[in-house]
Amino acid sequence: MRRISVFGATGSVGQSALDLVRRDAGAYDVVALTGGRNVRQLADDAWALKADIAVTCYPECHDDLKALLDGSGVDVAAGTEALSEAATRPVDWALSAIVGAAGLMPGLTALEHGTTLALANKESLVTAGPLLLGKAKAHGATVLPVDSEHSAVFQALVGEDMAAVERVIITASGGAFRDWPVEKLATATLEQASSHPNWDMGQRITIDSASMFNKAMELIETKEFFGVSPAMIEVLVHRESLVHALVGFNDGALMAHVGPPDMRHAIGYALHWPERKELPVDRLDLAAVGSLTFESPDDARYPALRLARRVMEESGLSGAAFNAAKERALDGFIAGEIGFLDMCRVVTAVLDKMSSSDGLQNVEISLDNVLDTDRLARIRAGEAISQLG
Ligand code: NAD
Ligand code: MG
Repeated sequence: MRRISVFGATGSVGQSALDLVRRDAGAYDVVALTGGRNVRQLADDAWALKADIAVTCYPECHDDLKALLDGSGVDVAAGTEALSEAATRPVDWALSAIVGAAGLMPGLTALEHGTTLALANKESLVTAGPLLLGKAKAHGATVLPVDSEHSAVFQALVGEDMAAVERVIITASGGAFRDWPVEKLATATLEQASSHPNWDMGQRITIDSASMFNKAMELIETKEFFGVSPAMIEVLVHRESLVHALVGFNDGALMAHVGPPDMRHAIGYALHWPERKELPVDRLDLAAVGSLTFESPDDARYPALRLARRVMEESGLSGAAFNAAKERALDGFIAGEIGFLDMCRVVTAVLDKMSSSDGLQNVEISLDNVLDTDRLARIRAGEAISQLG
């Protein structure tokens, strides 16, 4: 039996992972499951999968979770320290499906313990890629990509020599507003930004898809994970969301990864890696699909992509500032404090301010520096939001 833990088990990615686990429950010994306020889901899954421990990141949810798991034999804990403690428990495979920079600490802790970490939590790579991957190297741990584009690149690279790679192309659906007139984007509401044309995902990443902040994060994630230069990474708008990424080689070949928009593919690939096993996803009928379309992204529509280029260029701690400012700006949009296009304005203002006065470059990417930058960027983003409001 393989021992596994799932961090962020109650979310969209976490539930897709548990669906795969449930289908072959006898193969897995579930150690830790974690979640947030959705304690009923967490308790139901912990009970059904006989987890050793269930953790909610919110201390105020502890008693509810405890009551729901009374008599189950599942240990219960709450809070961010409990989350990291759960990551110290020995497992063969852990999935980080927490949303936001909150995923960084459990991920780092798991890697310190040599755990193979399947990483859906792109924010930790954007915030502290070198720290995370350095930790994996130091402890002989493996990090596997779960973001669909990065899983696609990873699969296209099997057996290849990185020296032969000329470019890496990640695709984007274009999000909820791909057909809106650019002038109308300023009026986009929370409800309109919270629906995705092709993927069924958590609310935050769905809004990030509409603003293309998700693809901006993924550009940085590509640079960090595969160690390729920013100039080698491209974004293509591909409405059908069937080609997830392409890798271009020095002989002119492009290896494309094609599959249905179902996260269980990327999660399952990481779960069974290095093997490839049967997965319960739809098989594509390309004749029925008929045609696949590709367009260059429009900079005016998607200014977040330009910001990602800047972050990759500036490097250092600008990824930590970028991610934290984006998270705070997204909170502001969700809370109705700012408009849709203001999110990009806020992140730009934070990067301008912090790169000139607080020094994001030529600084060691240590945990303390990352956490300080994250805290400061959220404060600066709050200031920028008040100025806009
Ligand atoms: P979600 O909002 O559906 O779920 C997030 C999970 O994290 C929940 O279990 C929640 O309880 C937990 N969580 C939230 N805040 C937390 C905190 N402060 N501390 C600890 N746990 C916390 O999110 P999702 O859509 O499943 O996305 C999860 C991650 O995977 C994100 O990084 C996202 O960018 C990435 N991702 C998601 C998809 C997708 O299809 N949903 C695809 C690719 C990558
Ligand atoms: Mg993705």
